[in-house]
Amino acid sequence: MSGTFFRSGPDATIGILGGGQLGRMLALAAARLGFKCHVLCPERGSPAFDVVRRVTEADYGDKAALDRFADDVDVITYEFENVPAETATFLAARKPVLPDPRVLAITQDRLAEKDFIVSLGIATAPYAGADGEGDLAKAVAAVGRPAVLKTRRFGYDGKGQATLRPGDDLAAAWRAVGAQPSIVEAFIPFEREISVVAARGPEGRIECFDVTENEHHDHILKISRAPADVTPAVAAQARRIAERLADAFDYVGVLAVEMFVVRDGAGQSVLVNEIAPRVHNSGHWTLDGASVSQFEQHIRAISGWPLANPVRYGEVVMTNLIGDDVFGYEKWLTIPGATVHLYGKSEARPGRKMGHVTEVQVATSPSSGHDDPA
Ligand code: AMP
Repeated sequence: MSGTFFRSGPDATIGILGGGQLGRMLALAAARLGFKCHVLCPERGSPAFDVVRRVTEADYGDKAALDRFADDVDVITYEFENVPAETATFLAARKPVLPDPRVLAITQDRLAEKDFIVSLGIATAPYAGADGEGDLAKAVAAVGRPAVLKTRRFGYDGKGQATLRPGDDLAAAWRAVGAQPSIVEAFIPFEREISVVAARGPEGRIECFDVTENEHHDHILKISRAPADVTPAVAAQARRIAERLADAFDYVGVLAVEMFVVRDGAGQSVLVNEIAPRVHNSGHWTLDGASVSQFEQHIRAISGWPLANPVRYGEVVMTNLIGDDVFGYEKWLTIPGATVHLYGKSEARPGRKMGHVTEVQVATSPSSGHDDPA
């Protein structure tokens, strides 16, 4: 895929599709570098609306609104991967859209994504597609149990997923995920979950943040720690995987690769679980724990500005404030070393990401941005 080379001046306007907390934090990082932002999002009162110069509250299929949006901005990016691919393609005919909309088409579909990863010789959990209920038994037989049934599209935070243990009823699991095209993945008894957040510029330079270790509660990310407690060899393998995927997409911007660390004989190896073509929750620690944040790296990359070589300031822990957790913000505000980020959402529904806190244990001397010996 060929990236569009684009360099925007500091007073340029960046268009952001999606107005959640990721869009909000992208816009805040953009503002610090002198950029203006215009957010397009269908939901009234979206968190990003509070911090940008211009807002378009419109459906992703509203072509007149998309035309006006494109006229107003210099470059367009997105904060989540479920922006309809047709919207991104429509806009790409008018202004540069980065990362390239073709990345969306692959990462929106778990089967296409896994096929893409495997085609590069990178390992994933064993998987098989099931387009209809009739394919399910064969797919489960191919993969074995326990397995995880996941919808091909629109799944996140464990939504659209069902575990298949020996004896579980396939028809019930099929109904539980909404009876839609899905994939069956082998259940991986992982030792830990890690992710790599990487930025790639239009000229192909890549900068990775330190490998991060992630802890999920009820399928939702709760805590990220940087650096991950993995060997230098595992960290190097994880980074190489992220770099290879970014190169294969000819990617411009920040992407995150979620991985499982598994025991492999006497050693360990890494399987890719998912690619997020955007800034990612497991990179929020970079806001306070590194010399440059994932949000700023993304803005730099899509604007054709030089990427930073990130320096991590110490051991960093990021805790998500989910649902009612947010009411504990006053306690967090008084903890030395803690930095509180609230997303301005008015309603604390269960499972909703309301904010996060970063805690940095400052090292005596800042570490290099890189955790592998290479
Ligand atoms: P996903 O939406 O694919 O990122 O899945 C959400 C979470 O479910 C992951 O972060 C894992 O904790 C768990 N999970 C997903 N797929 C598997 C698998 N094949 N084996 C074990 N756990 C999984």
